[in-house]
Amino acid sequence: MQKKGMVYLVGAGPGDPELITVKGKRLLSRAEVVVYDYLANEKLLAHVPPTATFIYAGKKGGSTHTHTQAEINRMLVDYALAGKIVVRLKGGDPFIFGRGGEEIEELAGHGVSFEVVPGVTSASAAATYAGVPITHREFTSSVAFVTGHEDPNKKESRIAWDKLATGAGTLVFYMGIKNLPNITANLIKHGRDPQTPVAVVRWASTPQQRSVVGTLENITEVVRESGITPPALVVVGEVVNLRKTINWYEKRPLFGKKILVTRSRDQASELVQSLEDLGANCLEGATISLQDPPDWAPLDQALANIAAFQWLLFTSPNAVNYFFRRLGTLGLDSRSLHGPKIAVVGTATAECLQMHGIKADLLPEKFTAEGLAETLLAQGVKGKKILLPRALKARNVLPDSLRGAGAEVDVVPVYQNVRPPMEDKIRQALKEGDVDLITFTSSSTVTNLLDLLDLKPEELHSLLAGIKIAAIGPITAATAEKAGLKVDIQPQTHTIPALVTAIAEYFAVSDQV
Ligand code: SAH
Repeated sequence: MQKKGMVYLVGAGPGDPELITVKGKRLLSRAEVVVYDYLANEKLLAHVPPTATFIYAGKKGGSTHTHTQAEINRMLVDYALAGKIVVRLKGGDPFIFGRGGEEIEELAGHGVSFEVVPGVTSASAAATYAGVPITHREFTSSVAFVTGHEDPNKKESRIAWDKLATGAGTLVFYMGIKNLPNITANLIKHGRDPQTPVAVVRWASTPQQRSVVGTLENITEVVRESGITPPALVVVGEVVNLRKTINWYEKRPLFGKKILVTRSRDQASELVQSLEDLGANCLEGATISLQDPPDWAPLDQALANIAAFQWLLFTSPNAVNYFFRRLGTLGLDSRSLHGPKIAVVGTATAECLQMHGIKADLLPEKFTAEGLAETLLAQGVKGKKILLPRALKARNVLPDSLRGAGAEVDVVPVYQNVRPPMEDKIRQALKEGDVDLITFTSSSTVTNLLDLLDLKPEELHSLLAGIKIAAIGPITAATAEKAGLKVDIQPQTHTIPALVTAIAEYFAVSDQV
């Protein structure tokens, strides 16, 4: 018997990909087909198995629709009847101005099984993220969600403006930007005070959020002047005044800052997440991608002879991860490392090692290769055999100084850095001056970005003019400075959390002056 298909109509939430429900996320992870809208954050697609069929259903106000509503309905029915688990992912809540009802009617008409998962609607998120409590005991005890999309020339409006204007304390208009003059005029005409405060919020709950406030009388002008375009919501009511005290989202330290993160994609997430938690809008422009080394033989030979080593050194979490992956491939585990003592360059590497069940024996005071060399030399390394698994290309400070002190050092590659091509959106953002800060977390992120840009010094200078530079530590900073860049931010400790704090502190000060 054929497997029975199913359609889940899932609310994606307003924009922030963490504002989907737990249930919605779980269903995405089971989807065989996902049909998603313009307003559903694409980051949510990361929850969907890569083997699924992904269909963009489009629908951006004003632009040509990618699929008509009839086509979308047809697709949902066809996939479900073919036995697939289909997730229909819609922005906000599917039943609030989302045409979810129409899609479900179609499914029901064809005998297709379905479930609906509500979502955080954009009205609620826009108000909250603009610092406006949508109700408040002192100001309003009712809210109305209204479509602002009605054709203003329509003779018979389906909105009872006379009742609406003063009938609900807070009014939230979806799709109302084009029609704003008409909406405000209708409300004033039917008795709402022209001085009623109004907030307009674009791309609410995302790093691109922008909001403006005014009154019923002047908001059209304010929106026109600020250049705010859809998607945006219009919140009308006395509660908007509370924004003065409650506006939290836009007051986060890095709100509105566009930050180019040049780390490799698999490593960028911690940095990106921490910066975004502080409100930054991160652009991920990987300048590095990691791969297996060209040859595993040097490591394999060292592992076969591991008992001969007194020290095993790790100078990055990448080295740890690649090393252990190979260990696993060889059918070994951490028990085979019981012989040598193990030293790491810094806390991130130590934590990574801990994930593999091993506590580092030595952590230097200064988290650099020099710091590690110094600490090891102080212990005495003469005649000691030391294994250093690391990137194919790396600085020789550590092995050189250990050898200089009489150690025998085996440097074996466990991964290599390769340079991916530069994405157009990154080049574009830099060209348009749409970047406030670039973060460099290793020397290769600097050299790779510059190689990718491939510019003459004066062109580079003018491209990067006005862009701040943050470097994780002195080596990275020196590489940047040697290339003619001015480093504005450098943390005391060379870790990602310290880098993030230094960036936040820098802007807290520079934005005040
Ligand atoms: N079902 C959706 C609404 C779809 S109608 C929900 O529950 O939110 C589309 C309108 O929603 C847009 O024109 C805009 O007015 C509003 N909208 C959706 N997401 C938004 C966002 N992140 N910021 C501001 N407005 C948004």
